[in-house]
Amino acid sequence: MTLRAGREFLAIPGPTTIPDEVLRAMHRPATDIYSPAMNGMTLQLQADISRLFASSGRTYIYIGNGHGAWEAALTNVLSRGDKVLVLESGLFAAGWGKAAAGLGADVEVLPGDWQRAVRPAEVEARLRADTAGEIKAILVVQVDTASGVVNDIAAIGAAIKAAGHQALFMVDAVAALGCVEFQMDAWGVDVAMSAAQKGLMGPPGLGFVVANARARAVHDTANMRTPYWDWTAREGEQHYQKYAGTPPIHLLWALREALDMIFAEGLPAVFRRHELLAGAVSRAVEIWASGGGLRFSIPDPAQRSRTVTNVVLADGYSADALRAYCSDNCGVVLGVGLGALTGKAFRIAHMGHVNAPMVLGTLSVIEMALAALNIPHGPGGVQAAIRYLADAVPAT
Ligand SMILES: *Cc1c(COP(=O)(O)O)cnc(C)c1O
Repeated sequence: MTLRAGREFLAIPGPTTIPDEVLRAMHRPATDIYSPAMNGMTLQLQADISRLFASSGRTYIYIGNGHGAWEAALTNVLSRGDKVLVLESGLFAAGWGKAAAGLGADVEVLPGDWQRAVRPAEVEARLRADTAGEIKAILVVQVDTASGVVNDIAAIGAAIKAAGHQALFMVDAVAALGCVEFQMDAWGVDVAMSAAQKGLMGPPGLGFVVANARARAVHDTANMRTPYWDWTAREGEQHYQKYAGTPPIHLLWALREALDMIFAEGLPAVFRRHELLAGAVSRAVEIWASGGGLRFSIPDPAQRSRTVTNVVLADGYSADALRAYCSDNCGVVLGVGLGALTGKAFRIAHMGHVNAPMVLGTLSVIEMALAALNIPHGPGGVQAAIRYLADAVPAT
């Protein structure tokens, strides 16, 4: 209707906006998957993914989404009956834990809630209590896309070290990789995973797992291994062995282009862009929240993700009505509330291929919807976002 002509704008936390360059990179005929050039492309992609994780470990590229990479990570290092500690901070770590339970692990959840990050001191205390060393792996997400929280992976890694515990530290970086810093080796992470369609700006369909030497050694005796996900099988020399079958060449070309774009911009610049755009979103929501009709899902600003912002409406107001207004009238698609926040919250994604006009435009459309739907909100949220960016990006 009225104002939605032209391209729809996706402000959902995955899949995210795919750059035209990445779309174009796929528009070509299939080629010989056995050629040295294609095998070389996979080797280079594996090296570049390891670089994104800041890891000297081995990278495995899967045809699969994040759920696939979850299963790949778990089956390669666990044995049936192993105790796994899940650090709850929203929907996603719990989801990964459910996958582990379904595969035959004995899952324990360290309870958290949807309003705050995992507390490293609680992790350390739980691990110290495990004097028999029963816990074999610890699962956590860096950014929980459902709650909008960012966990301090470095601090959790330090807590595990302080407890002197030997469990594998496994981290989900799906909604964070390529947007915020990740230092796999320096933070003591043993297994990390991600997927292509969020910060990495690609089409859905690729998942990544990186394993350090410790995890690779545990793999040798893991009995949850299955033929398709298995690391050993995928370490073969032949190109098709690296994918347990036909390599997903068009998705690889897309990934190649996306990584080239990220490295051309420079990782520090990419991180800074995400920080600034998240700051702009924060300023706007803060001002709107002063009107009483909405609030941040994560009260502590330091624990809010720089890739997605979760906004909860006051009782009596429908987030789905707000989302529908933005989508139907303006072509801006916001993320839905998940879990207990279904219908009560909406999410603004600001990850991957995002820039100032995309984010300021999205904020303007939300402010327009708040006004049209008579949801009480402080005026001038967008103005505050503009002021913040103008101060942060001075004229030279
Ligand atoms: C999106 C997401 C997943 C799941 O990824 P899919 O590709 O949808 O399977 C897992 N973890 C986090 C943190 C996510 O944001």
